[in-house]
Amino acid sequence: MISVDEALKGILETISPLGLEKVNILDALGRVIGEDIYAGRSIPPKDNSAMDGYALRAADTRGASPERPVFLDVVEDLPAGSIPQKRIGPGQAARIMTGAPLPEGADAVIRMEDTRKEDNRVALLVEAKKGQDIRHEGEDVREGEEVISRGEIIRPAEVGMLASLGRSFIFVHQRPLVAIVATGDELVDIDEAPSPWKIVSSNSYSLAALVRECGGIPLQIGIAKDRREDLLAKFRAAMRADLILSSGGVSFGDYDLVKDLMKEVGNRMQFWQVAMKPGRPLAFGSLGSVPIVGLPGNPVSAMVSFEQFIRPAILKMLGHKNLFRRVVRASLGEDIRKKKGTRHFIRARIRREGEDYAVVTTGEQGSGILKSMVRANGLIILPEEATEVRKGAMVSVQLLDDSLERMPTPGF
Ligand code: AMP
Ligand code: MG
Repeated sequence: MISVDEALKGILETISPLGLEKVNILDALGRVIGEDIYAGRSIPPKDNSAMDGYALRAADTRGASPERPVFLDVVEDLPAGSIPQKRIGPGQAARIMTGAPLPEGADAVIRMEDTRKEDNRVALLVEAKKGQDIRHEGEDVREGEEVISRGEIIRPAEVGMLASLGRSFIFVHQRPLVAIVATGDELVDIDEAPSPWKIVSSNSYSLAALVRECGGIPLQIGIAKDRREDLLAKFRAAMRADLILSSGGVSFGDYDLVKDLMKEVGNRMQFWQVAMKPGRPLAFGSLGSVPIVGLPGNPVSAMVSFEQFIRPAILKMLGHKNLFRRVVRASLGEDIRKKKGTRHFIRARIRREGEDYAVVTTGEQGSGILKSMVRANGLIILPEEATEVRKGAMVSVQLLDDSLERMPTPGF
């Protein structure tokens, strides 16, 4: 028997971030950048006006007030996007719109509201300070400055920054192709005629959804019957991927074919009994150079094992540094008993209670009860040494989605 932490360490040690690919910045959303981005230009590229108003020389505005306005000659009109043609001399101003480049000679802007237009002149009702209402060249980004570093996650703000630097493509870590092989004679695919003796291979779909959710690309290999040729063919097809997941056939008392075949064609295959519930059996090794993890067949065990071991592995392949779901402390709403020596992952519903969190289990916890996952937004993690946890105790809850991040619409 090995611990959850030992199993995780064993798997993560063999996983490296994938190579880089060049993608459009919009497709880079959520991906991890593999290059440092230096600004090839200043933003803004030139001093420009922060207001609709008049560009002028601050010295010319001395003493201006509503009672005793100062009058300047308006020598040019500068809508946004125009290029100034004239230099502002003493006693002169240019009418200027937000974002238009500041004309030479001007060192301040007075906003429209503090002026009155009179024919070809403007009456200033206030004084201006030097630099007032000017956005300076390079005040956002200086040319040559490092703005995004390799390893960072591309969010909408980074997409906007890349666009303003004129970068339409960047290098990000590739998304892993993750092959999913279901094993078992009792399985049928989703649209095959149902019969009382067969069950739909729900793992093929829940695992594919999990792969996609954490940023991988699922490759559905389908269902391998418990027959040597079929298993071999499916494993062979899976070797195109960056990571292979199988489900079923790795527990004690199983029809041993899956394990035997993994031992025969795999490298360094290990068949672990992990001290966890659900999800005790786990196989790990590689086919060729492709890592393979044999997940347990029970639908809940497969999903919980994925959460603990595969999600971090896929995130590592994607270049992420933080590989784990958020864990919060919550007040337990019922008594729970367990055996000492295994880590329990109990499907649970966690909610906010004021500033704190409260959590209850989702009922029947059998490893075949997929409904316990459907109703869950978290997993209560009870440590190996725990035996009895009382109602009101604080427990750790691993969040399975962002339902705690979202708030109801205010006022409803
Ligand atoms: P196994 O580990 O192969 O003995 O499978 C354990 C249990 O999980 C069996 O009762 C199977 O019916 C169920 N199971 C195995 N594979 C799948 C699958 N792909 N989808 C849903 N249930 C499965
Ligand atoms: Mg089986």
